[in-house]
Amino acid sequence: MSDCIFCKIVEKEIPSTIVFEDADVLAFMDIGPIVKGHALVIPKQHHDPVTETPDEVLAKLFLTAKKIAKAQMNAFGAQGVNIMQNNGRAAGQEVEHIHVHVIPRFEEDGHHW
Ligand code: 5GP
Ligand code: ZN
Repeated sequence: MSDCIFCKIVEKEIPSTIVFEDADVLAFMDIGPIVKGHALVIPKQHHDPVTETPDEVLAKLFLTAKKIAKAQMNAFGAQGVNIMQNNGRAAGQEVEHIHVHVIPRFEEDGHHW
């Protein structure tokens, strides 16, 4: 998708702070973090929304989110982690390339859903 911002991040046409990458997925820091350490996981191939995304892609996304969550908790001392995935404007989705938010949480960060 030539006009997709996350496809451009995959192609490294737009810079990002990458925290994990393999043949299928990319994880990078969110440019507008809800709290410090907020990361995103995306498939390298363009898919959207979750209901149209192949099962194996969803499985890989969640397994990668688990890796990132582990690092946030074990390496950076997060006390909790929110793993979130938005679909459609009504749900607050801004970028239409499927992505999973992995948000480290600290007792004192004061952000609650
Ligand atoms: P959504 O609201 O679609 O679930 O989340 C999109 C997320 O992508 C937002 O948290 C936003 O801050 C992040 N984002 C949008 N554009 C960019 C960008 O160019 N680079 C990075 N790293 N994150 C972005
Ligand atoms: Zn895309």
